[in-house]
Amino acid sequence: MSDNDPHPLNLFNSLTREIEEYQPVHPGEARVYTCGPTVYNYQHIGNMRAYIFADLLGRTLSWKSYRLTHIINITDVGHLTSDADDGDDKMEKAALTSGKSAWDIAKYYTDAYWADIDRLNIRQPAKWSIATDHVDEMIEFAKGIADKHCYELESGLYFDTSTVPDYGRLARATTDDGEGRIDAVAGKRHQTDFAIWRKTPAGETRQMEWDSPWGKGAPGWHLECSQMSMKYLGERFDIHTGGIDHREIHHPNEIAQNQAHNACDHSGANIWMHNNFLIDRQGKMSKSTGDFLRLQILVDKGIHPLAYRLMCLQAHYRSELEFSWENALAALTRLKRILIGVEKLLTKTEGEKASIEHPRLLEFRQKFDSAICDDLNSPKCLPILEDLLNQKKLPADQRLSLLEDFDAVLGLNLLSLSRKDLRISPASVSISADEIEAKLNKRHQAKVEKNFAAADVIRDELSAKGVELMDGDPLRWEWEITI
Ligand code: AMP
Ligand code: ZN
Repeated sequence: MSDNDPHPLNLFNSLTREIEEYQPVHPGEARVYTCGPTVYNYQHIGNMRAYIFADLLGRTLSWKSYRLTHIINITDVGHLTSDADDGDDKMEKAALTSGKSAWDIAKYYTDAYWADIDRLNIRQPAKWSIATDHVDEMIEFAKGIADKHCYELESGLYFDTSTVPDYGRLARATTDDGEGRIDAVAGKRHQTDFAIWRKTPAGETRQMEWDSPWGKGAPGWHLECSQMSMKYLGERFDIHTGGIDHREIHHPNEIAQNQAHNACDHSGANIWMHNNFLIDRQGKMSKSTGDFLRLQILVDKGIHPLAYRLMCLQAHYRSELEFSWENALAALTRLKRILIGVEKLLTKTEGEKASIEHPRLLEFRQKFDSAICDDLNSPKCLPILEDLLNQKKLPADQRLSLLEDFDAVLGLNLLSLSRKDLRISPASVSISADEIEAKLNKRHQAKVEKNFAAADVIRDELSAKGVELMDGDPLRWEWEITI
């Protein structure tokens, strides 16, 4: 392969723990399923890292010219407070503690999640598949595998994990002692067996329950993803994604069900990909610890959502990423610098576009391609983009068009975002942008009249209100972000 050829797309497959070249099941296509949120609460910014990663993957597949079909599910029933069949249904529990209906809770948090998807410039999937819209089909799925692979207990229908080959190979925990497993259900044949249908306990009524051959109840969480992924993408599809916690229980269980349903050893998806955690100083960010960080809290501080996206792109998706306010602020500053570069470039690009790409720009394209094809190495792509902005001697129109292509992968919205858009008011401020502009006009007038004392008073007043003046910059001022 010469340096000018496009690179093959290499991805880390959690199943084999190896980097593999992407080979689509259907030529020219990419069919991707992403485990979506459980909508009993807001998503924290760690959860959003999982969707930024899936979006980067989807955008990269588009960059490589594959026709993408991306499905993300919404789990609005069936996810228990423990992954190991223990505890309550997260939705029902939230309904009980809030006094709202489980359906209202699902709607509220799905909308909140979609708003964050939008703010992070995550592309819309081909379909958001909502679990409760598919319960009848999930029952059919379960019926199809019940005889050969399941057994019934008082609490539900259980999948016998010894009926499929190689159970747990994804987790690399093939024995009953797999990490984190709790044998919470009496009568289970193996600790790794799991509920595919959970019966409503006798004498109780759940807000979300359906009739089934095993009695009234709700589908198991793992069943949902097996049924929905194969419904929309086929019995064998290309890539399945999720956070690294899913490698231990949720995805091995999906694989077992897929094998049972398809009556073959194949795991359903060729490649299983997992993003690592966003952590904070206390460890993995999670929702069980009371207060948790969600995107709105960053926005309330004055940190633009796309600065958080950039912060995620600065780390490889398979590395842990530590959240700190300093890191978030540094990403905001980096995004500002990039936008200054883009603004300058935009002032230079008028006139005809040359049809042949300058050889140096082709080199940039190749370098970027090589980095993103190396298991989505976004941290390596960013300096290539920054370097491109600095290439003042290369034709501006071509640089701009290449930048647009790079940004189609990174999703930072660089051509429509302006530095002014990054300036979002922290929730704590007590002055509006209009008032600041009016005061700055007054200050300008004072300076013209050589009344420097009056100009200084205005500066101090604004500074006391958290406004930093930037003399000489057309933007004139910024919010001072306190962390
Ligand atoms: P949930 O709403 O709990 O089902 O989680 C949604 C997604 O976020 C799943 O893919 C999880 O694996 C992922 N996830 C959960 N916590 C984190 C974290 N701290 N960092 C990155 N991804 C996470
Ligand atoms: Zn899932």
